[in-house]
Amino acid sequence: MPELPEVEGLARFLRAEAVGSVVATVTMASIAALKTVDPPVTALAGLSVTGAARHGKFIDLDVDGLHLVFHLGKAGWLRWYDSIPATPLRPGKGPIAMRVRLDSIEGGEPYGFDLTEAGTKRRLAVYVVRNPRDIPAIAALGPDPLAMALPEFDGLVRSSHAQIKGVLRDQNLIAGVGNAYSDEILHAAKLSPFAMADTLDADAVRNLFDRMHEILAGAVAAADGKPAKALKDAKRSGMRVHGRAGEPCPVCGDTVREVSFADSALQYCPTCQTRGKILADRRTSKFLK
Ligand SMILES: [Zn+2]
Repeated sequence: MPELPEVEGLARFLRAEAVGSVVATVTMASIAALKTVDPPVTALAGLSVTGAARHGKFIDLDVDGLHLVFHLGKAGWLRWYDSIPATPLRPGKGPIAMRVRLDSIEGGEPYGFDLTEAGTKRRLAVYVVRNPRDIPAIAALGPDPLAMALPEFDGLVRSSHAQIKGVLRDQNLIAGVGNAYSDEILHAAKLSPFAMADTLDADAVRNLFDRMHEILAGAVAAADGKPAKALKDAKRSGMRVHGRAGEPCPVCGDTVREVSFADSALQYCPTCQTRGKILADRRTSKFLK
């Protein structure tokens, strides 16, 4: 799933490539992905793209005062075309959920992008609104971690009676961090994903805050200027423990371990994060007894 750095990279990419264009057509191939009815997507046609912004993991394309907002979900992505295919979309068939055709005011071939979604779980969401805050999930977002100051972070972490991994991923507390970057941040901060947030002392929270900044700002810098299709690979190659179960920890050489859940898994390094303790995992615990 794209998280803050990749979504920020996509927003910057769209700012560079799409702002100044005129929307020719917006076509929904997956009606289920469209979460709003008023204004209709057809209202965007003929209007200019005037901006592209990010709210948490949402991308917000400003189309002359209307907002085409999307969330890529778990398996969604944006595919950019310098020359967009003229073949009509077949509703309900294949991975394409939406196609946006753009015209340059100087003329030439139409270009634009598709939103695609792999797999069968449809989580990609598209909204057309007059104000992004009309979308309840955006109105409820917590502060952006890169715009947050330490006292605010300290306050929200140490008032949360929940596991720190869950606190970092809770979009209503901190906007934009998901499963992958929370693994990376906790590894860098040398904290167990299961540590209770409200038991951390001020030094641990300050260290967590600094590592969060380092990891996210570093990943945003790495994503900056990359074309849409390169952002996924950039994310994967920058990960030290996330998605690397069984590989050696690049800090201490211990084997990166995994805890799996119904539809996700977290990775961590026992030596760096849990004083060598192997956390129980529902798939392997029967073998460890
Ligand atoms: Zn380690």
